[in-house]
Amino acid sequence: MIVQMNHNASPADVAMVRKRAEELSMSLVDFSDEITLRLVVPGKHDVRLARAFAELNGVNEVFATEPGHCLTHRAVNPAGTAINVRGNTVGGDLPVVIAGPCAVESYDQMMQTAVALAELGVSILRGGAFKPRTSPYDFQGLGEEALHILERVRAETGMAFITEATGVGCFDAVESAADIVQIGARNMQNVELLKRAGRSHRPILLKRHFSATIDEFLHAAEYVMAEGNRNVILCERGIRSFVDHARFTLDVALIPALQARTHLPILVDPSHAAGDRHLVIPLARAALAADADGLLVEAHPCPNESACDARQALNFDDLEALMREIEYPPFMTTAALAAEVPA
Ligand code: PEP
Ligand code: MN
Repeated sequence: MIVQMNHNASPADVAMVRKRAEELSMSLVDFSDEITLRLVVPGKHDVRLARAFAELNGVNEVFATEPGHCLTHRAVNPAGTAINVRGNTVGGDLPVVIAGPCAVESYDQMMQTAVALAELGVSILRGGAFKPRTSPYDFQGLGEEALHILERVRAETGMAFITEATGVGCFDAVESAADIVQIGARNMQNVELLKRAGRSHRPILLKRHFSATIDEFLHAAEYVMAEGNRNVILCERGIRSFVDHARFTLDVALIPALQARTHLPILVDPSHAAGDRHLVIPLARAALAADADGLLVEAHPCPNESACDARQALNFDDLEALMREIEYPPFMTTAALAAEVPA
């Protein structure tokens, strides 16, 4: 339930709302922005409770939200949430591109990647340190050594990076190194990990499980937000279907469906959906045409030599082609296009 105050509500009116919440043993989360005072009562909604707030002075409107989707609800921040990552905006007017290899393999590989990507205008570097591989016999990532490599590369290039925390056990290490902590598809319903992420001071990129409904996906994001972390980025990465021409099926419809329901930014990972580098750019186009806030793309200096996910890795020439397309006006938001028009 969301309690929206009038623009001219007095501090005493707000105090009354807080007092009423206290009397009802409900906690309030303040989601006010510069224009609107908005108080969210997570996990609750019924007509009787709504009335208890609606009758108070200074209250403009009480929105019903489904009990499980309060903090993620669009009405909490109708303008959309923008998240700052070392000067890069995720959820702003322009799509953000995060790129890099599936896994960190060496300092040279990451340094070469970061330098090439920075030149192409890629904002944020990706690289797995802890890898959630399907087979226990496959490369599992360099772990903490990879985190040190990523930190060194950031210190030398200034490039922010994202890497995955595969469990609560490695969360502290990942959190202290990374600019964004990724929670992978397989962990989307690992509630202990989600709660830990909710207590983090880092933005969290939450990938959709390949069989999760939109409701389950939003519930997972709500778990993170309920612990206090407001900086959650959602990422669609393909769902399991019957097709065998792609690794997964990119659910493009999820982008507008999520936008209608949540204020959180939505990225798309065309690489894991495709599983094949020839499909990555067309899927990236589809995602941006559907108004995704950006992309998470796998790219490698020598794609065929990648320690994992070699078939889907782009080389830097392909990534450059994609970046040039993104700069082209069709993928600019209406606001960004308006800003380009001379007065
Ligand atoms: C990844 O991005 O490195 C990854 C493992 O993706 P997913 O969790 O979507 O499979
Ligand atoms: Mn991968």
